[in-house]
Amino acid sequence: MTNWNGKLDSKSLMLIKRAAKCQVEMGLGEIVINQSHISGHRKRLAELNRMVSQSQPHLFNNLSEHREAICNCQNCPLGATRTNFVYGVGNPDADVMFIGEAPGRDEDLKGEPFVGRAGQLLDKILAAINFKRGEIYIANILKCRPPNNRDPLPSEMETCLPYLLEQIRMIKPKIICALGRISAQALLQTTTPLGKLRKQWHDFHGIPFIVTYHPAALLRFQQYKKDTWEDVQMLRSRYDEMMAEKARG
Ligand code: URA
Repeated sequence: MTNWNGKLDSKSLMLIKRAAKCQVEMGLGEIVINQSHISGHRKRLAELNRMVSQSQPHLFNNLSEHREAICNCQNCPLGATRTNFVYGVGNPDADVMFIGEAPGRDEDLKGEPFVGRAGQLLDKILAAINFKRGEIYIANILKCRPPNNRDPLPSEMETCLPYLLEQIRMIKPKIICALGRISAQALLQTTTPLGKLRKQWHDFHGIPFIVTYHPAALLRFQQYKKDTWEDVQMLRSRYDEMMAEKARG
């Protein structure tokens, strides 16, 4: 595990990094690598969100128009390495929107979010609360795949987030569910661990916002399926209440 001068070898470091990532993703603890970097990033995201919500003119009439306009984006280096731009999928008038982190290999090849193993699990989670994929909308913080599925960089999220915010503006979901730590922290502009963001309703520019585990994390840590079940039931109950209220007029 250690090399001749007592330092961890690169494989061990990689494994530790991966384990730490999983733990943070699962809300098992807060692992801060560079606090000043993170707080600088938070400030930039806050500024960006303010700009988009307050002053940006509404440039697009529908999702297809928007997709067409941005699908050749080269605003960050991921544009050069992607196979496909992964815009989002689902009902353009969805009441519920699920937001993940970034396309993986399968999504990059197909051009659609959540189509790999994690996507199949997401479909099962949706089915368990009586939602079909075509009824809701699924998107990611990033539209292009980070190489080797590494975490999105702050600069990549900053560049790509306005696209997602424009999608949210057009879809006007009644509920947003963040899948995993990266999505939750980027949208809520926080470094609070995922475990502490769960089990409560947040407000995202007036839209009820809930956080749960990423399906990819559930594939590795089965024990968190129970918590996820509780989260999505909370979502479904709120949705049912909203629909009942709407029916009453
Ligand atoms: N993980 C994500 O966060 N998004 C996808 O589209 C696929 C896997």
